[in-house]
Amino acid sequence: MSARVAVVGSSNLDLVVSASRLPRPGETVLGENFRTVPGGKGANQAIAAARAGAACDFVGAVGDDEFGTRMRASLVDSGVDVRGLRTVAGPSGVALIAVDRDAENFIVVAPGANGTLTELDADDRATIAAADVLLLQLEVPLAAVIQAAGWARADGTTVVLNAAPAAALPTELLDLVDVLVVNEHEAAVVAEVASDDPAVLLDALLKLVPRVVLTLGARGAGYADRHGLRVTVPAPLIDAVDTTAAGDAFTGALAVGWAERGGANSADTVTASLRWACAAGAACAQRPGASTALPDRPAIDALYDATYRGAQ
Ligand code: ADP
Repeated sequence: MSARVAVVGSSNLDLVVSASRLPRPGETVLGENFRTVPGGKGANQAIAAARAGAACDFVGAVGDDEFGTRMRASLVDSGVDVRGLRTVAGPSGVALIAVDRDAENFIVVAPGANGTLTELDADDRATIAAADVLLLQLEVPLAAVIQAAGWARADGTTVVLNAAPAAALPTELLDLVDVLVVNEHEAAVVAEVASDDPAVLLDALLKLVPRVVLTLGARGAGYADRHGLRVTVPAPLIDAVDTTAAGDAFTGALAVGWAERGGANSADTVTASLRWACAAGAACAQRPGASTALPDRPAIDALYDATYRGAQ
């Protein structure tokens, strides 16, 4: 039986234009090309988990515009179950992104329909209860995130929270988290400590939640829990082309690996889950694009085998 992952989160359409340089306030510059890319951390992580081999349900909201139709189709195309995806009156969430030749960007996000996801229903609760892992981020209203986590805790589903975008979190939510997944910037904001030392960040976060996964970009990932287990995993050595969505690929695959291995019962299972997630993040970084670059299971397995076979 494949792992079951439920995601409660955001979906946005990224409207991306590239230009030789970014405009100053009030200025118009001529762009070079324009593309639309389905995004949002919730939808990206749902697609990542489905491509990594999970039966994945997505609970979220899109608007009743053509962007909503497009995002729904993108989830379905990757095998995500969208019975929990509402279509609400008004615009879908969008991110307006301008990128210059140095890959410098500016981004304005209008949450649109994502902001209407303030309360979940009995069907959502059943979806969460049926899952092995509930995967959450912070791009939909906190009330829905807390409600979903509370139901997961009550019904025996593991809660994995990716605290992105970075924010200090209320105790009410922290108390419901089984595994926190953060990059170094998010770790410092959640822990409210000014440090870039992974060991310091992990120690500070363990005061808030029982298990932490810290992603370290090209350096891989670290894990620590309150039982004293610590694991560090190097990332695959790759030529990174575009690291956009690498964190989403990592988190989606981590949820799948975690569910398939039944959690954190030994150093070996944690190491294997982290390595597999690192292989997913690196496989994503090898390809241009965001959600379009999220790797499928054979691609993750291939990089995992090439990198870690024979490693202790
Ligand atoms: P975020 O994109 O959320 O800031 P990271 O940059 O830490 O997250 O990347 C997430 C994961 O993706 C890393 O833990 C690593 O496994 C993988 N990854 C990202 N960048 C690279 C890279 N240049 N080389 C290899 N793996 C990478």
